[in-house]
Amino acid sequence: MDAREARTRLVESLTASGVLHDARVREALLTIPREVFSEVDPFSDAPQPIGSGQTISAPHMVAMMAQWLDIRPGHRVLEVGSGSGYHAAVLARLAAPGRVVSLEIIPELATRARRTLADLAIDNVQVVEADGSAGLAARAPYDRISVAAGAPAVPQPLVDQLAPGGRLLIPVGPMDQQTLLLVEPSGASTPLIGVRFVPLRGAYGWPG
Ligand code: SAH
Repeated sequence: MDAREARTRLVESLTASGVLHDARVREALLTIPREVFSEVDPFSDAPQPIGSGQTISAPHMVAMMAQWLDIRPGHRVLEVGSGSGYHAAVLARLAAPGRVVSLEIIPELATRARRTLADLAIDNVQVVEADGSAGLAARAPYDRISVAAGAPAVPQPLVDQLAPGGRLLIPVGPMDQQTLLLVEPSGASTPLIGVRFVPLRGAYGWPG
């Protein structure tokens, strides 16, 4: 089975299970070559190691987050936690011709994500090596903010960097188990599901 077929199967199974229902998200998952970002078992619906003790989120999580964010063409998107760059590539496909700024705190991961995205000629993502727990005020406001690491609480700078009508999606809670929250510019938040992400580090994250 070639990679395209494997991606098609994955998308079909996520669709059959009811997780994946948005046609644009489906197209993005079919198009972005997950196997280039994650060499270990890229087509199983599970998180996979990407080095430096970090993981690439499972495809169903990327799909659900993209659907909850409701990313439209032209949106300015901030991602916190580039990791492999896969999730950023999916967000970029949905937001094009809008742009994604993706922040990564581990230098080696930022470098590798940048290289992978360049190799794939995905040119509407900018990977910036930075503590993303405070966002990136210089490039704000953002229509959508997607956080791929678990925070102890919602960082206020991220809320402040939302455009009017914007949305922030962030896992919040104890280090080993969080609730995915959809946060509005007013600070009002809606709990979505229980999740388990690697810890968010930095000024508004966990120490260490
Ligand atoms: N979205 C990624 C997976 C993210 S895993 C993908 O598609 O592969 C979470 C990532 O968040 C890790 O790479 C981790 O280093 C990063 N991270 C943790 N705290 C961070 C912070 N304060 N700022 C930026 N990145 C952070």
